[in-house]
Amino acid sequence: MRPFTYTRAASIDDAVKAVSANSGTRFVGGGTNLLDLMKMGVERPAHLVDINRLPLTEIIEHQGGIRMGALARNTDAANHQLIRTRYPVLSQAILAGASQQLRNMATMGGNLLQRTRCYYFYDPSYEECNKRTPGSGCAAIKGVNRIHAILGASQTCIATHPSDMCVALTALDARIQVTGPKGSRTIPIPEFYRLPGDTPQHETNLQPGELITAIDVPPLAYGKRSFYLKIRDRQSYAFALVSVAVVLDMEEGGGTIRRAHIALGGVAHKPWRAEKAEQFLAGKKPEANVMRAAAEAELKEAKGYGGNDFKIELARRSIVRAVGTAAAMSQA
Ligand code: SF4
Repeated sequence: MRPFTYTRAASIDDAVKAVSANSGTRFVGGGTNLLDLMKMGVERPAHLVDINRLPLTEIIEHQGGIRMGALARNTDAANHQLIRTRYPVLSQAILAGASQQLRNMATMGGNLLQRTRCYYFYDPSYEECNKRTPGSGCAAIKGVNRIHAILGASQTCIATHPSDMCVALTALDARIQVTGPKGSRTIPIPEFYRLPGDTPQHETNLQPGELITAIDVPPLAYGKRSFYLKIRDRQSYAFALVSVAVVLDMEEGGGTIRRAHIALGGVAHKPWRAEKAEQFLAGKKPEANVMRAAAEAELKEAKGYGGNDFKIELARRSIVRAVGTAAAMSQA
């Protein structure tokens, strides 16, 4: 690891000022991803600003929904009574990620900013990686790409976003609160993340010096009818090959889907909102042929790169299984 300097921020303003003043400075919270990347020589900050003492750990009811402080630990959010009862898909997604030890340390804000687990990105001995070194190429496109993207990728990068939590937050229409040198703003989660395009080194639309302060989930009367399905190579401590977060608003008795919220993980550079599947399901009953047709509509533009071709059919089947599971739940 390269030498770096370290200070603790006493306030949000201090933290923002310190990081804005120097492009080589980074915030550090739980450090569960950043420190790994520093040890591998992928991230090389000259200075770290520790934000762990900032008052950003609360999880509270907010405008009928929930506000989760950026420094709340993943474990605390997953086990919080409000989240478990109103948005079980979020609790399930957090508990599907990492290990208990990592969830105890990892923060909500840090989880949003996890970087891809593309093998080539993590290993600087591979020269070709546009995300690590813009303009160098992409070793994964013709290399080992079993875990890579099938939707929204580009010729510069086919990496996936690794978080489970963010897939559930995408289905729940979360909003990200940030404070930066120009003040505070709210970013809806679809606008928070970017597809790789020609600039895969930029994963979010955060501006230099902006600090995530909280994540808001709006009220959702039917949030209890929700489910997170994660398909992975082993049952614990593995990233998703494909995951699906589903929230359904259904007519009681008749069983028709009024509205579906569906997001996919492990398939794209960002948590993927399955809008085509959602539109297909609206106003229909969750019958097997309907759910299959919705999944096919969503995956119509999917493209594999050899090692990950299997994910296309896996994603279709996962959507069918996740929607069917949520539809079979009791709303009570
Ligand atoms: Fe780098 Fe993206 Fe290609 Fe992986 S997929 S090698 S992160 S450019």
